[in-house]
Amino acid sequence: MILRPKVRGFVCVTAHPVGCAAFVQEQIDYVRSKGLIKNGPKKALVIGASTGYGLASRITAAFGSGAATLGVFYDRPSEEGRPATPGWYNSIALERTARTAGLYARSLNGDAFSDGIKQQAIEIIKNDLQKIDLVVYSVASPRRVHPKTGALHKSVLKPIGQSYTNKTVDTDLGLVSEITIPPASDEEITDTVAVMGGEDWEMWMQALDAAGLLAPGATAISYSYLGPEVTWPIYRNGTIGLAKNDLERAARRIDAMLKANGYGRAFISINKALVTQASSAIPVVPLYISILYKIMKAKGTHEGCVEQIQRLFATQMYNGSALAFDQAGRVRLDDREMQPDVQRQVGEVWPWVGTENLQKLTDIDGYRAEFLKLFGFGLAGVDYEADVEPHVTMS
Ligand code: NAD
Repeated sequence: MILRPKVRGFVCVTAHPVGCAAFVQEQIDYVRSKGLIKNGPKKALVIGASTGYGLASRITAAFGSGAATLGVFYDRPSEEGRPATPGWYNSIALERTARTAGLYARSLNGDAFSDGIKQQAIEIIKNDLQKIDLVVYSVASPRRVHPKTGALHKSVLKPIGQSYTNKTVDTDLGLVSEITIPPASDEEITDTVAVMGGEDWEMWMQALDAAGLLAPGATAISYSYLGPEVTWPIYRNGTIGLAKNDLERAARRIDAMLKANGYGRAFISINKALVTQASSAIPVVPLYISILYKIMKAKGTHEGCVEQIQRLFATQMYNGSALAFDQAGRVRLDDREMQPDVQRQVGEVWPWVGTENLQKLTDIDGYRAEFLKLFGFGLAGVDYEADVEPHVTMS
């Protein structure tokens, strides 16, 4: 069938298998072009491995340092006549290229929050890898069924204490409008922390440790965001920000657990704002990203997920010296985004941006192109007029 993008709000309901493979290949080529990461990971478990920062982490581990990778993710597989979600195609493409290169790569598609998937991952690691030296936790999800209570928690993106009004953009239609988001209830706050906080990451680490699967010196990492003041009410000081505080709490607990066992480290990396399926769902943030991209591209400092993670591995995690932490003990990959002159320029544009000057003042075209790329559309060298088989299976 001929596959075209069908954008509905902040999701695209179709994905192109050949385009997704080309997108993965682009990232692999980038990592390879940067050369071998000496002393990089050898056996990695990536949870949330199929898109965004998790996919970039898996690609960097595999093709930057020859790591065997087990990827866990939650995607809808393809069916006869119906495309999969992009992470399915991405993971198949990654596995194929890894195996061609002689690398072990295996995937587990299912709910990472469940005890069942953790147990399956443990069995695979025991049988195939014995011990792992890197665990990346990069899950972004709107919901979680708690494995112990059975309760369904739904995360919300809301301010806390009072409502928040600011500009936002419908990136599909190019319309800038004002949005008012009411404050979260106590229950919504608790639910968001349950979904996007650190409890599940801790459960994974405890289960891996209890099964004796962590190699001496093992690293555990998860990702967070801080961003500029204009987004604080909805991000840093909002429900997601509280969940991220909980993720930092979990990082400290996991770090202590690994150190108490005589080895290992756990920490958070604060990454740059980028177009991913998760970030496109946050109000206000896509408008900020569109402005930011224009400024950072003009300055030559723009990076995507794979550039960020390759830099994290090569210059921080595996560069042979201690990690450069900020005062709160976090690695900062948002350093270029947060440069004062970049933020000053964002601040100058923000009050003036509207529907009529969106093209001129922002990189909305770049935003849209990157968004479509997440679903395998707009990749150079892919013939989008060609008939394509949407049903692709994982071997
Ligand atoms: P994403 O939507 O691209 O990726 C999310 C991944 O989680 C996918 O692989 C998906 O399959 C997986 N997933 C979702 N629910 C799952 C479940 N129940 N079980 C197993 N896997 C599941 O998101 P992203 O933007 O790459 O976010 C990853 C992390 O990076 C998050 O912690 C996010 O807060 C953080 N981060 C993102 C940005 C950004 O701007 N995008 C910036 C800084 C930090």
